[in-house]
Amino acid sequence: MRKEQREANRAHLKRWPLIITTSILLIIAIATTAMLANTQNVDVDATVVNVRQGPGLSYGVEGQVTHGTQLAIIDKQNSWYKVRMPGNRVGWVASWLVNNNEATTGAAKSGVTTAAVNVRASSTESASKLGSLKAGAAIKVVYQEGAWSQIIYDGTAAWISSKYVKLSGTSTTVSTSDQAVASASAAAAANLTVKTKRTANLRHTAGINGSVAKELPANTSLAVVGESGDWYEVKTSDGTTGYIASWVVSTPSNGASTATSTSLAEATIVLDPGHGGSDTGALSTTDKYEKTYTLKTAEAIRSALAAAGANVVMTRSNDSFVSLAKRPKIAHQVKADAFISIHFDSTPDTNEASGHTVYYYSSKKDISLARNLNVALKGVGTPSRGIEFGDFEVLRDNKQPSVLLEMGYINDDTDFSKIQTTAYQQKVANDVVNGLRSYFESGSR
Ligand SMILES: [Zn+2]
Repeated sequence: MRKEQREANRAHLKRWPLIITTSILLIIAIATTAMLANTQNVDVDATVVNVRQGPGLSYGVEGQVTHGTQLAIIDKQNSWYKVRMPGNRVGWVASWLVNNNEATTGAAKSGVTTAAVNVRASSTESASKLGSLKAGAAIKVVYQEGAWSQIIYDGTAAWISSKYVKLSGTSTTVSTSDQAVASASAAAAANLTVKTKRTANLRHTAGINGSVAKELPANTSLAVVGESGDWYEVKTSDGTTGYIASWVVSTPSNGASTATSTSLAEATIVLDPGHGGSDTGALSTTDKYEKTYTLKTAEAIRSALAAAGANVVMTRSNDSFVSLAKRPKIAHQVKADAFISIHFDSTPDTNEASGHTVYYYSSKKDISLARNLNVALKGVGTPSRGIEFGDFEVLRDNKQPSVLLEMGYINDDTDFSKIQTTAYQQKVANDVVNGLRSYFESGSR
């Protein structure tokens, strides 16, 4: 690059920070407005609740609140609420430790109009007119923004000039459906866009049971046109509309944070089919390879987890050799919420032992995962040998919660007659999903 050109480029670069900062502030202001339109309060249910710097147990504790304290919710991420505490401090609390009854009703303020007033679709004089209200009409004010008050009008969210609003000083509630209307209109008015954090499903209806309309690659921008519970109703650039889970997208205000997943659907799970390629693993009495069944079983688990909404990463997805050292590294790279290695045991002589074992290495980070999976696998079809300490490299070098499952003895004919069936593989898969679900929901990580 020539010198003048370099300097010209540098001059360009100097202007960027200001533009970026301004844009970010603007976006945050818009996003915050959308959230405030839907202000909800919660009461602290537990005796003492830690307030953390971010939405997850891995974030530092910045304070505590005690039973009965009222907190205003200003954001929600995974199962965490971003709250404003007395004294105007902001932090995150786990949603399961606070009483969120009120979050389903939504508070509004009662009031009356002081004069005949036009009702508009958004908060400007140029917005289309939806109708009008007579002086003295009773109104429920959901939100006030500058000179405008948002009300529910004829089943939709609408705006009137705050000049003609007299609040009575008493609070009221708006129904869940009206609240959804209000928040949807706020999102649309704010031109809220979100971006997929990973490959994500666009569904025909809100909820993970909704049929998939389209699979979206990571970093797809979507225009938010509405909200339904924890789901956004969105529109893609090609005009396809559908629903997407709010936790698989980042919004301008939460995109920077790396959330700790608090339920299976939000989790990244690394599955590690043992052996592969030149490393065949142990042999059945009929000389079948362990590596074949570790992969088949992991594939079954992968499908079951994907159906449950989890993000699944495989250390290998075909018959290739992957070193032991590389396997935990994959877990680190993707910040796995759980790493599960799949193997089948063997004994020096055939037909000497039977059953499955759940191995852990760390009694701190791994044991809860091991316990939950062990319980879930109890009825899988091979006898349970319980949980055991195991000094395996994939566990020892793993910084993420990890376990190694020996799902039966491959050189035991009774065990192998099960191991090789898709029915057993499917049973393992379902049990692992259930075990992970209880692990993530127990909150005892
Ligand atoms: Zn093995």
